Amino acid sequence: MRAFTYSIPMTTRFRGITVREGMLVEGPAGWGEFCPFPEYDDGEAASWLAAASEAARDGWPSPVRDSVPVNCIVPAVGPERAQEMVRASGCTTAKVKVADEPGSLPADLERVAAVRDALGPGGFVRVDANARWDVDEAVAAIRALDRAAGGLQYVEQPCVSVDELVAVRKRVDVRIAADEAIRRADDPLTVDVSEAADVAILKVAPLGGVRRALAVAQSCGLPCVVSSALETSVGMAAGIALAAALPSLDFACGLGTVALLSHDVVADPLRPVDGMLPVLRRAPEPVRRNDVPADAQRTAWWDARLARVGALLAART
Ligand SMILES: [Mg+2]
Repeated sequence: MRAFTYSIPMTTRFRGITVREGMLVEGPAGWGEFCPFPEYDDGEAASWLAAASEAARDGWPSPVRDSVPVNCIVPAVGPERAQEMVRASGCTTAKVKVADEPGSLPADLERVAAVRDALGPGGFVRVDANARWDVDEAVAAIRALDRAAGGLQYVEQPCVSVDELVAVRKRVDVRIAADEAIRRADDPLTVDVSEAADVAILKVAPLGGVRRALAVAQSCGLPCVVSSALETSVGMAAGIALAAALPSLDFACGLGTVALLSHDVVADPLRPVDGMLPVLRRAPEPVRRNDVPADAQRTAWWDARLARVGALLAART
């Protein structure tokens, strides 16, 4: 497969990173994206390569819808910036990052209140804590955030473990969504989140491809929200393909994130219009590669990672 490494500055610091790196790989079915975060080990990265290979070699199952609703994403920014981001997005659902650092709750409350203000009463506010709370902190924070937001749609991954999610879910009225509890489980296909969550977050790359994510959706039996892993428009197309192929889609998806990248690899990035994304596939155009160059050292690092993870994946299958 043909492959190249990209390096793209983020427009806003997100999940602790300011530059997004990855590789695009080309096969007979088109382009796939291999972009496990740098701290992930080769074992975890293998699922990401399986997803990239599916895109490049096999393509995806047929869609059952031709557009998908998406949320806008509000990182740990101040309330005014949060409102600007929501208004500029055209989305009626906003996902707000909370618990970004210890002691952030007062700022989180201000941010969700500002987001509600910008969305109006008809919009939906959801929050993602990325497993940063213990059970008691989660219960207190969720109750306070629910009040500040004038009602939360759901809270994503308040704590780390499935058992903690079960405990939190018994004590709050807000829906719980499981993200890391599924994708970082020993086996996402068999992890039981039925008592722990009301909603399942599905991400194509960590789950190993669109087909495998569809199997996880079926096995968990929960309403699903498809989210990105901060891919370029090439990887985003895989998330859109999953959202397009799910039998039902009850909530807006977390696929409106290409705007967090300062550049993209396609001329016409997959940005939502009025909160909707079309079900399309994008190939990176050669001219755009020059916008996202990685230096020789990072290219060598990614080439070596691709070779190692490729060997690991080949040995598993
Ligand atoms: Mg999440």
